[in-house]
Amino acid sequence: MLTSYRLQQPTLSWGEDGAPHSTQFDDVYFDKESGLEETRYVFLKHNNLAERWAELKQNAFVIAETGFGTGLNFLCAWQAFLNDAPRDKQLHFISVEKYPLTKETLKASLKMWPSIDVFSQQLIEAYPEVCHGFHRIELEQGRVQLTLWFGEAEEGFAALNADVDAWFLDGFAPSKNPEMWTDKLFQHIHRLSHQGTTCSTFTAAGIVRRGLRDVGFEVKKVKGFGQKREMVIGELTQASRPLTERMSQDQAWFNVRQEASTQTTKVLVIGSGLAGANTAYALAQQGVSVVVWEKGDHIACAASGNPQGMLYPKLTAQDSFINRFYLSAYLHATRLYAKLDKNKTFWDQCGLIQIPKNDKEHERFQKLLQTKLYPKSILQASEEKSGSLLLQLSGWVAPAELCRALLDHDNIEVKLNTALEQLKQIKPTQNNSQEDNQTHIQWQATSGAQEQRFSHIVFCTANDTNDLNIIDKAPTISVRGQVSSLTVESAIQACSEKDEPVSKLSIQKVLCEFGYVSPPMDGLIHFGSTYDLEDNNTKIHDEDHKKNLTILENLLEIPNNTFMTKDCKGRVSFRCAVSDHTPIVGPAQSENAYRQAYINLTKNAKWKSDKVEEFISQLYINIGHGSRGLISTPLSGNYIASLITNTPSPLEQEIIYKLHPSRFIIRELKRSQGS
Ligand code: SAM
Repeated sequence: MLTSYRLQQPTLSWGEDGAPHSTQFDDVYFDKESGLEETRYVFLKHNNLAERWAELKQNAFVIAETGFGTGLNFLCAWQAFLNDAPRDKQLHFISVEKYPLTKETLKASLKMWPSIDVFSQQLIEAYPEVCHGFHRIELEQGRVQLTLWFGEAEEGFAALNADVDAWFLDGFAPSKNPEMWTDKLFQHIHRLSHQGTTCSTFTAAGIVRRGLRDVGFEVKKVKGFGQKREMVIGELTQASRPLTERMSQDQAWFNVRQEASTQTTKVLVIGSGLAGANTAYALAQQGVSVVVWEKGDHIACAASGNPQGMLYPKLTAQDSFINRFYLSAYLHATRLYAKLDKNKTFWDQCGLIQIPKNDKEHERFQKLLQTKLYPKSILQASEEKSGSLLLQLSGWVAPAELCRALLDHDNIEVKLNTALEQLKQIKPTQNNSQEDNQTHIQWQATSGAQEQRFSHIVFCTANDTNDLNIIDKAPTISVRGQVSSLTVESAIQACSEKDEPVSKLSIQKVLCEFGYVSPPMDGLIHFGSTYDLEDNNTKIHDEDHKKNLTILENLLEIPNNTFMTKDCKGRVSFRCAVSDHTPIVGPAQSENAYRQAYINLTKNAKWKSDKVEEFISQLYINIGHGSRGLISTPLSGNYIASLITNTPSPLEQEIIYKLHPSRFIIRELKRSQGS
């Protein structure tokens, strides 16, 4: 269910000692004398974290919390994890917060704890825009991953796809905040837990004890912190339902998880464009060893090789899961690019002005400005161009340079001139000699004389996917785009010859209308782009330069025919688009198996399968990003990595369904009902 609202800020008062107090709930965020000790006692000690981390078998440990507040619990868990867990293990911390602090109030609150300042500073720097939805933050070079849900707790956990090992049940005292502790919240806590999952909470209130007990936790009262008499701990001692069932809820066909955890030995990512580079980077950041095969002789040689691209999120005034995906992906991409490009060589967060194309779009912009979905920091009226929008977090990227930066990672090996030709599944029984010790399915990939085995394969092969003939066909559409460029020098000369003020060429922000122009890069002004469904010619067309020049002249308010096509250089590439304008990201599954398993949908579109089939054989797909790859590929790569490493998804459950590679088959089966 889709609910959308503008987040409310917490109402705070500050004690003389600088401690924040919620006036709305009349309660404290932490004890000003001993907040750190209390957190360590209640949450770390009583979930036995030091002992569990020291003996950790799985690659990642997952904590989930109710009420992020100032992040103090998170910071303490992060610090302790670095001390107590082996170097190759990861911490995933998920928290929900209905009234998020701003960066400034977070900073002011954490000032009280100089001993953890080194962690607080990093959290403050990485803290996301305060807007509804999930935000994924990567710290310690990926070893610590924070997933924040800004919104109501129950809603956040309903949207979560994760398997939690320990719960920090914080939140203001139940007597002051009974609305948070709903039956549904406890049901989701149970859905997201497995046998052996523990929980602890500062309170001993009946509502919490009963809630936990009713869903199956064994609950105990123990001595509270300091002067406090009691607190509560719990453990899920009974066997839980299978992970696949718990995660797919009532949409069995959109399951993305595997029940038996597979060994992630080495992952092959095919393609080194934005989708491939981001997938490889996200996996590498999670400690996975990745090989990238690229058929071309350099990185990002297809559509991701354009010299300059802009971040243009098409935000809508109506909330939808696709809009949420793009918003969350956009914010994620801007954070990632800023982090990767400290020297500002390939990312310029100069802002973007979106000019309305017509009256209808003007009206749409006015609605966008009034909607509660976006804070001003994301979208506001432009003061420079009236009637236009300013997206100040946006800007431009040099995509190929970005791909090179993403792939320049100790855990990634890139092999150029290596085209995938064949893929063979090796079952464990086929080859289980002692030396081989293969206990899971593997894939043998072939390119020319090269043969290599991998535990997982990710196809980031855009329009080439269907030509490979290895996985089932994806409904993608190839769309030709020609971009053009002029040297700043030739543009100045052309303006001078026509007595046009040269100041019009001072482009400070990306401008978008029918096309776009970015601020000059390396003495070149890049603009475009054409959009052609019919033409598959790879050569540059003069008439396309002409179209792009008209776009440029209109954007800069310069008379048409000022610039000449003879001065233009260009590049042609083919976007990989999808008919429903949504990328295809998730497990690549067998169409035949789907048709057989879910044939009942042809008789009754409302039929629910009570059985989750596992068609996932460690093959994944990440394609169809169209013109928006700079926005959608970082978060999509992160999501694919979460499936392979069996760690929390950064995407809402409903978004997972929308991107699912098998959505087309399911739609078709449902549509063919009765025919
Ligand atoms: N864990 C926090 C820390 O380390 O600073 C302290 C949490 S504070 C005591 C309780 C938090 O729960 C507040 O930030 C409050 O805004 C949040 N909260 C209260 N009701 C909520 C709800 N229904 N959904 C999500 N968060 C909620």
